[in-house]
This record gives sequence, structure tokens and C-alpha cells, in this order.
Amino acid sequence: MSDPTSTPPQQPAAPPDPPAAAAAPEAAPLPQPIADALPEPGDVNTSNAKGDGLTKCPRCGSAEIGPVPGTDQLRCAFCRFEWVAANFMASVGFDSPIDQLQGTVRTTGVADIDQSASHIITIKCQGCGAEVVINTESQLQSRCHWCRQVLSQQTQIPNGAVPDAVLPFRLTHDQAVEAVRKFASRRRMFALKRFKQEFVPENVVGVYMPYLLVDGNAHGDVAGHGEIKTRQYQRGSDNNKTTYYDADVYQVTRSFDFTVDDLTIESSSARANQDTRMNTNNVINTILPFDTKNSVKYDANYMGDFTSERRDLDVDAVMPVARAQMLSIARQKATDSTRYDRGIRWESEQLELKGTRWVAVLLPVWLYSYYEKKSDGSAFLHYIAVNGRTGETMGSIPVSVPKLLLVALTIGTVLEGIAIAIVANF
Ligand SMILES: [Zn+2]
Ligand SMILES: [Zn+2]
Repeated sequence: MSDPTSTPPQQPAAPPDPPAAAAAPEAAPLPQPIADALPEPGDVNTSNAKGDGLTKCPRCGSAEIGPVPGTDQLRCAFCRFEWVAANFMASVGFDSPIDQLQGTVRTTGVADIDQSASHIITIKCQGCGAEVVINTESQLQSRCHWCRQVLSQQTQIPNGAVPDAVLPFRLTHDQAVEAVRKFASRRRMFALKRFKQEFVPENVVGVYMPYLLVDGNAHGDVAGHGEIKTRQYQRGSDNNKTTYYDADVYQVTRSFDFTVDDLTIESSSARANQDTRMNTNNVINTILPFDTKNSVKYDANYMGDFTSERRDLDVDAVMPVARAQMLSIARQKATDSTRYDRGIRWESEQLELKGTRWVAVLLPVWLYSYYEKKSDGSAFLHYIAVNGRTGETMGSIPVSVPKLLLVALTIGTVLEGIAIAIVANF
């Protein structure tokens, strides 16, 4: 498999692979828009060197390649050869120890988005020469309308549509329909006449959603007051008893290094800015975690019949969310390290980020939407979302107000190597 010219920062520099030999469409060389996008030190080049247009089976050269349902494999429809794209993290050295991370390491897939970049890409079909248009807002592949060959957008373009990595759908369409049915039955949604009438399995659709994964090498400082109960007693007469507690109050501080692995952050603003009066898109965050370690290098052939959404948030835009989640991990960690039976009130907290590394990934989600018209005339869009890897299912329920959907974001976060450095003021 051709490997993009990636040079993991923590490893001895390997000689870059030769430039792609794949037939690039013979367009006249553009006047260097690439100069700006050249990787800076600390960046990892993950741009795809395979070239856009027809991608070919490594065995027979056919361009009819698609995902094998229920697996991480790609298959050639002509010779039936099957293969899996390379593991992404390993391919760029992002499996190296997080506690060594310094500075900000970005892949080209998380490069800042050029707001003026077009979403409409024209690819010249190498089969017949026709010009084929792909709207990368929702599609990364298209069939040539003349020769029927599949054309792929493989190279990263400055609009955030092409990620570094993709986590293929493991759950088949049938399994997703089953998961939606089960969820709806348990919540008696099929008791609603309209829901039952309108439930069409074909409307359960697979979508690749854009996320940013971040590893963090961090230091946390938190301080507050913790209480330990020393005595419990009652005062008063039979009918009018009051229970009292005595507690010692301690000042508690914790200062410690910690790492966060593959924190999974929404990178589509339409999803991140929720208006829960109108829709419940944030159900998708409740079906985390994904086994992001198994993400493979992006290959448009994984798109098959799935649609995709485009990342439109840059690292700077999601940094506050990442920091907030890391702080909450730090607080939790600090709380877990103490034994104050009446709890701790954390009053100050600080996070120092020594290093981060970022990856743009498409994650597989099955969606079923249901449009509810309320009696007062207002409309509400409900979703049932199914994790395309684990089958975890969550949704909003047309019969009640979905308060439960404003749920925590930190599920799916893996903690590693916590070292409590200082324990003070007991
Ligand atoms: Zn083949
Ligand atoms: Zn063609």
C-alpha cells in the first residue's frame, strides 16, 4: 500500500516514500496553493498521496472497491480480493507514549479550514475523461455518469471534508435496524400510531460524523476543602428529633501529572451548538465511546453508500471544550485519590497542557430520524443514533421532553498513568 509521506515526530526520521506514482489527473499545475499548507515543525503530513479519481484494486486494477459490511475490510468487486487500510495511529507514530508529548502536534487533516474554500470538487474521470462533480459537504465519492466508474476524493482539501482516519462501520444495516426497533419498543414508541406507521427500515441511514481526537499530556492543580465525619448524633424529643453531624474540614490540594488518550470531540458546529428546542443531535455524544484505536488511514472507498459530514471547527475552536473535559477528568482523578467521606468542594483548579496531538477522524453512526409535529403546531426533530461499532443506542423520545439528553461528554475518555506527585496539608 502506498504510504503518505509521514514522519512521526518522536521517531528517527524515516526517509519519506517516493511521491505518488498513481496517475494524478492531468490538470495544468495550479499556481502553488500548497505552499501555505506545507507542514510546520510539529506537524505530521497525512495528506493522501494516492491521487484523486479512480483508486484501483492492488491485485487486479479494478476500480470497483467497497466496504465489506460488518468488517473493517475493503473488497474488490471484480476479483474479490480483500484488505484493510493501515492502522492510522501506528502509521504516524501516534501510538507513542503520551507522557512524552510536548507542544501541539497536528496532522494535515486538522489544518485550519479556509472559509472561502469550495465544497464542490471537480474530478476528471481517468476512465473516460468526463468531469465529475462531488459535493464534499456530504460525499467523498461519486460515480462517473458516463462510464460508471467510482471516483474518490482522497486528498485533503482546505474545507475540512477529508479526514486523516476513518473508523469503518462494523454494525450492518440489519443490525442497526434491529437496534433502533429494540430501542423504540422498549420506550413504547411503537405504541404511537404515527411512529409505527412511519417507521421504514430503509430510513435508518449510515453517516460518517466528523470528530477530532486529542491526546493530552497535562498537569493539574486543584485545591478545595474536604470533610470527614467524626460524629453523628440526635437531639430532641421523640417527635422532634434532629440528626447532627460533626465533621473535620481539611484543606486539600493536589498537584499531579496525567494523560488523556483519544478524547473524542465533536468537530461539526451544527452538532456542537445544540438547540434542543429544535432537535436532539447531541444524542450522538451519548453513544460514545468508539474504539478509535482501530481507526484506519482514510480511504474514500470506505464511504460506500454512506454519507459523511464535514468538519468545520478548527483545533482552536474546540480547544476550550478539550480543556474543560480535561479539567473535569483532573477533578475526578483528584477526588478519587482522597478519602473524604463527606465529599470535597474544589474551589480552584488549573490545567497546564504540556503537549497535545490531534487527529481528524470520521466515526460511523446509524441514524433514524423522526419528525414530530406537536399539537401546538411546533415541530421537533428526533433522532435515534446507533454506534456503528458497538451498537450502543440512544435517542430522543417523541412522548416526553428529552431532558436526559443533556448528558455528560466525558464518556469514552481513557485515563492513563496518573501520578499523584504531591499530597499536602493533612
Ligand atoms: Zn481486484
Ligand atoms: Zn468516466
